[in-house]
Amino acid sequence: MHLIETRNLCYLYRNNVLALDGIDFVAPRKTSIALLGPNGAGKSTLFKHFNGILTPTSGDVLVRGEAITKKNIVDIRKFVGIVFQNPDDQIFSPTVEQDIAFGPTNLGLDPETVAHRVDSAVSMLGLEDLRTRVPHHLSGGEKKRVAIAGVVAMEPQVLVLDEPTAGLDPGGVEDLLAFLKTLPDKYGMTIIFSTHQVDLVPEIADLVYVMNHGRITGSGTVDEIFSHD
Ligand code: ADP
Ligand code: ADP
Repeated sequence: MHLIETRNLCYLYRNNVLALDGIDFVAPRKTSIALLGPNGAGKSTLFKHFNGILTPTSGDVLVRGEAITKKNIVDIRKFVGIVFQNPDDQIFSPTVEQDIAFGPTNLGLDPETVAHRVDSAVSMLGLEDLRTRVPHHLSGGEKKRVAIAGVVAMEPQVLVLDEPTAGLDPGGVEDLLAFLKTLPDKYGMTIIFSTHQVDLVPEIADLVYVMNHGRITGSGTVDEIFSHD
């Protein structure tokens, strides 16, 4: 059974934009999956179906083999964590550490476990020096790492990141990719991310999907997609 699977998934926005036009996507366990495609291809719209932020216009989304319902949506959101493209959409708290604690606290974990989760997310994302800072006063790249830490602290099995490297300086990109690369083996996580930095994909992804105009236009292993013979 795949962790996430979509079958002939279509999504029509209210303004009649058909953002997804028959998407068949699978995320196997413990893989790192890159989703490539130009702006407007439908990548964010697809991601928002993975934890029930959007509901399909037609077709199916299965998470651990189950459709998303009112009954299982809380569990599904523990299982699938999404880091949005714009960190300002998910940073609300007065300090970095409070912000990272927000998600695990909401899961109902005891304060000791929350503190442990915050400590490990802080060290995983290299935020030690920023713990007591005001998130809104941080740089774009720093905010991005805070937003990622907040989702990582919820320990999802599937971590979805929309353009995680956008706005980072080259050193920040390298650090983030090195970090993401460790997650499948170290924690058994599955990583799904979109990016425009195609050159970095072979280093980090196992599988690649290419999207355009709401459709999957290519998919395969990194070797299949990037071999030029
Ligand atoms: P990507 O993430 O690949 O840049 P999106 O999923 O954001 O693509 O967008 C896919 C298409 O849906 C685009 O044509 C975009 O303009 C449109 N779209 C995205 N969000 C909305 C929205 N909230 N309302 C209407 N159209 C939208
Ligand atoms: P242990 O829990 O025995 O310390 P683990 O390898 O399970 O060893 O975890 C090491 C640290 O990483 C722990 O602090 C744990 O909270 C954190 N951790 C474990 N799994 C995940 C995950 N999926 N995402 C983020 N952090 C995790």
